Amino acid sequence: MSLTFIKNAHVFAPADLGVINLLIGGGKILAMGSQLEISLNDVNPNNLTTINAKGQRLIPGLVDPLVHISGGGGEGGFHTRTPEMNLTDATQGGVTTVVAALGTDASSRTLPDLLAKAYALNHEGISAYCYTGSYEVPVRTFSGSIRDDIMFIEAFIGVGEIAISDHRSSQPTKAELLRIASDARVGGMLSGKSGIVLVHVGEGCSLLKPLTEVIESSEIPHSQFYPTHINRTQALLDAGVDFAKAGGFIDLTTSTTEQLLAGEEIEAAEALAYALKQGVPSSQITMSSDGNASLPDFDSNGKLVGLQVGRVGSLLESAATAANAGVPLETVIHAVSTNAADILKLSHKGRIAVGADADLVLLDADFKALHVWGKGQQLVANHAPCVRGHFS
Ligand code: ZN
Repeated sequence: MSLTFIKNAHVFAPADLGVINLLIGGGKILAMGSQLEISLNDVNPNNLTTINAKGQRLIPGLVDPLVHISGGGGEGGFHTRTPEMNLTDATQGGVTTVVAALGTDASSRTLPDLLAKAYALNHEGISAYCYTGSYEVPVRTFSGSIRDDIMFIEAFIGVGEIAISDHRSSQPTKAELLRIASDARVGGMLSGKSGIVLVHVGEGCSLLKPLTEVIESSEIPHSQFYPTHINRTQALLDAGVDFAKAGGFIDLTTSTTEQLLAGEEIEAAEALAYALKQGVPSSQITMSSDGNASLPDFDSNGKLVGLQVGRVGSLLESAATAANAGVPLETVIHAVSTNAADILKLSHKGRIAVGADADLVLLDADFKALHVWGKGQQLVANHAPCVRGHFS
């Protein structure tokens, strides 16, 4: 077994563990501690790589709970369908786990294609999971049933992103949302998976009301839903603060454009600081990149006037912005790694601990990914990818 010994790293697990040494091998963190040393009597030196990380911070690999790995978009016509994500788009931004969804278009984009891309990324070096379902309701499924998809197809860990409060939404009824939530919930329980419902929330004035109506009229708790794009407007962010304080999870989108920020959108790092200040527990907030989504710009008449592509790399950039703005590093790591792993029941992700997957990011002084490991394999070395996708 090839082993990597990382020495003298300042480890944030996310808790600050101080300066310690780590041994990784077989895809896992095997041992860690301030006194940990490797005797060359015990290992074949040809199988051992030693990295001196003195003065650098080591954090868990980022867990990105919403990426359109097989592409998205198309709101401006077929020529505006966005491209697939490349492995290196994720790894250079320190992202070692992605959770993938279809987007606005579940007609030309399909769940089999999403699964195939996820399996490819798993092969190439990161960990990829998927949401079954689609923006529109009735949702697209692989097997004909949300519950069966989650129970029997390994990569499916929840359903989403179901669109509400958006002119692109299929305007699901309360009964439809309730049925989706209960199917996903039971599918998750029966298979030991999260079974969460990821919800795309648009700019509509109903905000999170479609979800709170379901919660108030049923036994479904707030924590069953995972609404995203909560930093889209101040009104939605305030609704999200209430939702999270009631026990729900909220997700902030890090991909943005100058036009969106000139409009009503709040930069994700700023929204994180705001929500924390409003008393939202740090365990209830995550950030996702919405990578490879289209970022359409509609004018006040709903006419498309511009379209850009979301970037997975924006997740680490927003983490840096939040940390530089004074959000404690431990809280930032919770928001970009640990919390999503917990919400999605990926207990081997989002933390630096013995037995956890060896998904690690060594940060340089500018909060960029200097070295990245996914499942113990070094994917980025000295800022440059050392593993590439098959065609990139
Ligand atoms: Zn969305």
